[in-house]
Amino acid sequence: MQNLQIDAQRLWDTLMETAKFGATPKGGICRLTLTDLDRQVREWFRQRCEALGCTVTVDEVGNMFARRPGKNDKLAPIAMGSHLDTQPTGGKFDGAYGVMAALEVLRTLNDRRYETEAPIEVVAWTNEEGSRFSPAMVGSGAFAGIFDLAEGLGRPDNVTGVTLEAELERIGFAGSEPVGGRPPAAYFEAHIEQGPILEAAQKPIGVVTGAQGQRWYEITVTGQEAHAGPTPMPRRRDALVGAARMIDAVNRIGHAHAPNACATVGFVQVSPNSRNTIPGRVFFTVDFRHPEDAVLSAMDRELGQACDAAAGAIGLETEVKEFWYFPPTPFDRDLVATVRRAAEAQGYPHQDIISGAGHDAVYLARVTPTAMIFVPCIGGISHNEIEDAKPEDLTAGCNVLLNAILDRANAVLPERG
Ligand SMILES: [Zn+2]
Repeated sequence: MQNLQIDAQRLWDTLMETAKFGATPKGGICRLTLTDLDRQVREWFRQRCEALGCTVTVDEVGNMFARRPGKNDKLAPIAMGSHLDTQPTGGKFDGAYGVMAALEVLRTLNDRRYETEAPIEVVAWTNEEGSRFSPAMVGSGAFAGIFDLAEGLGRPDNVTGVTLEAELERIGFAGSEPVGGRPPAAYFEAHIEQGPILEAAQKPIGVVTGAQGQRWYEITVTGQEAHAGPTPMPRRRDALVGAARMIDAVNRIGHAHAPNACATVGFVQVSPNSRNTIPGRVFFTVDFRHPEDAVLSAMDRELGQACDAAAGAIGLETEVKEFWYFPPTPFDRDLVATVRRAAEAQGYPHQDIISGAGHDAVYLARVTPTAMIFVPCIGGISHNEIEDAKPEDLTAGCNVLLNAILDRANAVLPERG
């Protein structure tokens, strides 16, 4: 394992420089995908990569690939990257960090005239956030064959209805490269954690072992509307009381599978929602997450049992519909070990961590060996203009990225000095 160091100040300055494209008064970024601001940061990125001697290509869904040649250009590239789009109230680091850290890796290699055996590619994926065109991660999803191209290009803007394809053309990033079909030999993504775990543990590096699986449900509980006055308690079929017991059960199921389970009810509709009518119908959603499929299955069974028990006690009918299933995604064991060794070689405290959020890397993992590097963010806060991170942690993540990439690209020092 090599032990090279990036230029920490240059990394920070680059992050601050690109944060100007879409800067908000509160210190964040609003740079929705395929807007004029996105075009500006994309042009900036292309120019900086070309200045390093890279060839930049754009595929049909607007994903950008900056290629630094290897000694053996026939080898599949080692890739790294993330996304340049943000949430409407986004921060300076979500996505941008992964792209700028990758750019800093290239700059460090160029400074040292380092030649790697395999080519290296930096990727900026289109529409990771999904806030303008849903769903999220359309660019990496199309690359990995999760969505077909026409489906991705046809997605409408949530407000204006203009298509993703039309906006790609308008900003000049409807590329000609076919999407996918050229998986890199490995893919690394550096990202802020977007949660509180690393900060609390005072570890600058999270070795991400995979992403959580998710099961989403829609539950409808039906009882009977009745007058709140004349209806005695034993005669009631109160759908909200049943739903409340089910919601409490969801929370208990989450705690029962600690520390890795998450269980959330975030949306509830009560009908008729009138203060003097016993609720006849309640609709609510459940979001279960866990890194292991077997545990998700157990949580699923427990949810069914809890709903049956709560409904049976009050004479309610319940419909539990599984709405969405996203299997757990373990990252590549060897690549994860490479990240861990790179952290150790640099002497950085680190710990294994599971990604609670979706990332481009989660789709890449379907087509190529993949790993991620997390760094702490302050207060665990992200998708917020106050999102922040310590320069020394960002440097640590970038150093780990650099040495992990070198390990995989079989770097050798050139003969010339
Ligand atoms: Zn992100």
